[in-house]
Amino acid sequence: MTLFPEMIESGFQTSITGRAMEKGLLSLNTVNIRDFSKDLKHKKVDDYTYGGGAGLLMKADPVVDSFHSIEEKIGHKPRCIYLTPQGRTFTQEMAVDFAKEEELVFLCGHYEGIDERALDRVTTDWVSIGDYVLTGGELPAMVMMDAISRLVPGVLHNSESAETESFENGLLEYPQYTRPEVYDGSAVPKILLSGDHAKVDAYRHVQSLIRTRKYRPDLFETYVKEHPDEKIPPEVFEE
Ligand code: SAM
Repeated sequence: MTLFPEMIESGFQTSITGRAMEKGLLSLNTVNIRDFSKDLKHKKVDDYTYGGGAGLLMKADPVVDSFHSIEEKIGHKPRCIYLTPQGRTFTQEMAVDFAKEEELVFLCGHYEGIDERALDRVTTDWVSIGDYVLTGGELPAMVMMDAISRLVPGVLHNSESAETESFENGLLEYPQYTRPEVYDGSAVPKILLSGDHAKVDAYRHVQSLIRTRKYRPDLFETYVKEHPDEKIPPEVFEE
């Protein structure tokens, strides 16, 4: 649900999500909230806020009516995510949870946001993509749609790649290399060429630990607490 459907459509039809739509693994239906405006002449969807204050607010009725049109189409009340800086910050864990749903509705605000009475009536989840304020909910919706889509079985070619990414095991992903073996004087770590999978896995795990401790000490701390039996090698604490 958006005032700018073309923005979402052009973004989602590209690359991996576009391919998944062609294969029928995902589908996207944009609903233009403006189509539900009762102002037939100007199709106005916003108005001044009661109590004063700068800016315009999206009116309740076009939002609620857009949602009802979706409910009617699919025959039940779907989970409806309001993209808002006031929501819970989006995480990989939340993406995994949302990926279990058959349908998800993303409600994109614009201007100063949306009349609270509409939000009370249609939303089930409030999600933020970070502590900053954007002009609209379209980019946050696309961020969420992308992260959730790649967890839908079949969307990624190699299912393994969704499992080894950052955050999947509470750690950041290890550094990776492709050809050539030596680039600008820097060689690929020898162990990765050894063909010894157990050694490669162990090496990568240590690299993940080093990286997570360096860039995301908060995640590292949680990982250590949740894995009390794991002996963390001293090199993780060296950098
Ligand atoms: N007045 C609102 C407030 O202070 O909470 C902010 C409105 S913002 C300018 C306009 C719209 O952008 C919001 O309704 C929301 O849909 C979207 N938006 C802005 N920042 C966002 C964020 N960090 N995460 C998710 N959505 C965001």
